[in-house]
Formats: sequence, C-alpha cells, structure tokens
Amino acid sequence: MRILVTGGAGYIGSHVVKLLGERGYEVITYDNLSTGHEWAVLYGKLIRADLGDRETLRKVFREFRPQAVMHFAAHIVVPESVRDPLKYYRNNVVHTLQLLETMEEFGVKDFIFSSSAAVYGIPEKIPVPETAPLKPINPYGETKATVERILRDLSRAGTGFRYVSLRYFNVAGADPEGRIGFAYPDPTHLIIRAVKTAKGELERLEIFGTDYPTPDGTCIRDFIHVTDLAEAHLLALQYLLETGKSEIFNCGYGHGYSVLEVIRAVKKVTGRDFPVVEAPRRPGDPPVLVAENRKIRERLGWRPRYDDLEFIVRTAWEWEKRT
Ligand code: UDP
Repeated sequence: MRILVTGGAGYIGSHVVKLLGERGYEVITYDNLSTGHEWAVLYGKLIRADLGDRETLRKVFREFRPQAVMHFAAHIVVPESVRDPLKYYRNNVVHTLQLLETMEEFGVKDFIFSSSAAVYGIPEKIPVPETAPLKPINPYGETKATVERILRDLSRAGTGFRYVSLRYFNVAGADPEGRIGFAYPDPTHLIIRAVKTAKGELERLEIFGTDYPTPDGTCIRDFIHVTDLAEAHLLALQYLLETGKSEIFNCGYGHGYSVLEVIRAVKKVTGRDFPVVEAPRRPGDPPVLVAENRKIRERLGWRPRYDDLEFIVRTAWEWEKRT
C-alpha cells in the first residue's frame, strides 16, 4: 500500500510516517522543509518540493502512484495567520485545492486531512462534539474550516472521493523512543515553552490569563500525545479503505488540564524550578477546549495509550534535552 504524506517532515507528519513505516506501508514524503527536517523522515523517500509546484507534484503522482494521501503540510501559527492571512489562505487552502485537483487527475480517491479544534472557535458546549458549528475566530481556523467545506462538497459530488478529517486538540509530547519530536523555531505551545524554560533556554514562562472562569483561573486544554494522534491516522486510513465513508473525528482525550496544572507537572517531571509570571490574556484563547471523543473511540476503535500528562511531559522533556 503506497501512501503520499505531505508535510511528513514536520512534527505530527513525521510521527505518522514512522508508524506507517513500522507497519509496512510504502511511504513517500512531500515537504518543502520550510519548518520540517530531513532527519525527521525515518521511512521512505523525501521529495523536497513545494505544494504549489504542480509539475513536481504531478511527477510524484505519476511515478509513485499513491493509493491514498495524508495531508499535513500547512502553516500553523495562529498569531502569524492574523498578521499575514494571505500566506495562510494560499498555503492552507489554495495548495490543498491543487492537491485535490491532482488527486482527481490521477484517480486517487482517499484523503486524510489534518484539521484542528480551531474550527470550533469558542465552543458553546464542553466537551465539544463534532456536530458543533464551525465558528473559527482566527484566519488559521478559517483555513481549516474552509478546507473541511471543500472536502464535504467534493465527497458529495459523485466522483468517488472520500476523506477523513481529524480535528486535533492540543498535540504534545514526542516519540517515546526519542527519535523524533517537536523542532520548530520560536514555539508558542505551552508544554514546549515550559520544558524550554526548565532547560534554561527561556528566562521565564508567562501564564496568559489568570482570570478565566475555570477552577484555578487559567485556561484548560485537552493535551493529546503525538503518538496516540499518529495511531488515529492509521485507524482512519483503514476505516476509509474498508468502509469508503467520509467522516470527521475529534482527536483528544476528552478531559483537560489547566495551564497551572501543566506547569506543576513540568516542574515535577523535570525536577527543576523555574520562574513563572502572570501575564495578560492572549487574544483569541477560549477558556476551555476539551474534545468529546466518543465517535473516534466507537467508529475507529481508537484506544489511546498515553493519556497521562506526566508521560506526555516526560517525552517532551527527554526530546528537549537532546535538541
Ligand atoms: N499558554 C501560556 N503560556 C505560554 C503558552 C501558552 O499561558 O507560554 C496558554 C495559552 O494561553 C492557552 C494554553 O496555554 O491558554 C494552551 O496554549 P497553546 O499555545 O499551547 O495551544 P492552543 O490551545 O493555543 O492551541
């Protein structure tokens, strides 16, 4: 079985490539290495090219003849998407459209899409079910919601195209074997920033908002280990090939931790104390974001192995110490 993985040299993509390789899939990674790394691609060939380069993309389809496509390549930094929306719409929407057109041209029908809980904006109901309305509150979330609408319409057009869209919650941690992990300049994510502060790479950790309507006043997030998320992709692919049904699934554990709880866990796991300061709220942060995950458990039989905050932090810390 041959799978084309766009963005396979990035954080989540590389963990999926590793699992696909371990399970005997033939993988080809298509990545421009703008934020990804050659060393992160542990299996298969890496084609270094931009998704906007249609000729190279066509050549890859012609020569490799993938049976399915997993699409990770995207820009993902919310504040940057606010400053430079065109960059986000071009890469996340236009290039995805071109990828879908190329799939159509070569008769490839199966597509796994990296979506995000950002499509929900500030959800009314927690835990948030997949049926909640799409109400993104920043351009990044808009690009993901737009692609989801394109996928929905395309799957209804009678061409045989089908897809699974996975809405990621707060992805964290690193490969438990320590071979790959998060490696992106100027990270904004809480657990990464916290372990970098423990390491001494950052001077202090800021808590963005301590006056939220939550038990300790800080935001609550559903942190999911990257390897559990990678597993969801393999199950999604199997599901798609077996049932031929298009579906959308939340990817989260269904419970959350506050920013303060995460900081406590990082201090405990690393055995290091570090300065933490209270800072104003970061614009656009919903107070609580937790997935309802019954659907992915029931339909895909997904059973997370690493639903343990300290384990997540430990793998992030082990990885951080190597970088
Ligand atoms: N956060 C924080 N300090 C940081 C980074 C993040 O207090 O240095 C908070 C952020 O405001 C949010 C939560 O941690 O409430 C998770 O943020 P992150 O950027 O990790 O993920 P997001 O939920 O925005 O996708």
